[in-house]
Amino acid sequence: IFSIKNAKKSFENNLDVLQDISISVAKGEVAAIIGPSGSGKSTLLRCATLLEKMDSGELYYSGEKAAWNNEAGKTVYASPEKLRQIKSKFGLVFQNFNLFPHYSVLKNITDAPISIQKRKKDEVIQEGLVLLEKMGLSDKADAYPFQLSGGQQQRVSIARALAMKPDILFFDEPTSALDPELTGEILRVIRSLAAEHMTMVIVTHEIEFARNVADRIIFIAGGVIVEEGNAESLISDPQNDRTKAFLNRLQ
Ligand code: ATP
Ligand code: MG
Repeated sequence: IFSIKNAKKSFENNLDVLQDISISVAKGEVAAIIGPSGSGKSTLLRCATLLEKMDSGELYYSGEKAAWNNEAGKTVYASPEKLRQIKSKFGLVFQNFNLFPHYSVLKNITDAPISIQKRKKDEVIQEGLVLLEKMGLSDKADAYPFQLSGGQQQRVSIARALAMKPDILFFDEPTSALDPELTGEILRVIRSLAAEHMTMVIVTHEIEFARNVADRIIFIAGGVIVEEGNAESLISDPQNDRTKAFLNRLQ
């Protein structure tokens, strides 16, 4: 349903942040990405979700080509029109919620489906209310983000991503801006999405959570995939020394 192939990315002052990373995710699969700070996890998600341009590499969504290499091996992107269409195939949930502060909760959720996807307003609002109920936020439709706890804001941003009916959801450390007591509610929501077979790619520092919720774990360090495999076995029986060192440090 999603694949990124041979992704390479350098910044002016920061070379080889991604060095030839390839990941494919099947429909219904949950993949967790773990790795040390600065290893390129966010950059990878930003490249995958078209927020950042790769120097070289390919990107596919549901068989549609978003980006490919030209003869010189440099990434070429599809037309703006095509990219707009591809962008509605995925959702992205950030660490810092990124809600619109001057929109109510319901408007945060319904704005993009109405204005970008041009769907019927009544229908979108109805679905938005159902999503809020699912997130345990039925009473917050008319509240503004500043009136909510971090955990509630993050649930709104998950609802906002789901309102676009994405084929795949990306999460970049969805709990790391939250107090520990609020982390659980977000992990529960993600777990329930996994139970409904939502396809997800989750960058997280919560190793136990990754082990429980993910089918597959990908360990990234220094811009390369060091090791990947079945979630349970990667955590309980890592093969690579760098994976072992990383997991040991977290215990
Ligand atoms: P963390 O776990 O702390 O979130 P990360 O694995 O998400 O780390 P990235 O944010 O992808 O790491 O950063 C990888 C490297 O790329 C870092 O050295 C970072 O400083 C660098 N980097 C990221 N974005 C930029 C940018 N826009 N310009 C220059 N360097 C950048
Ligand atoms: Mg990051």
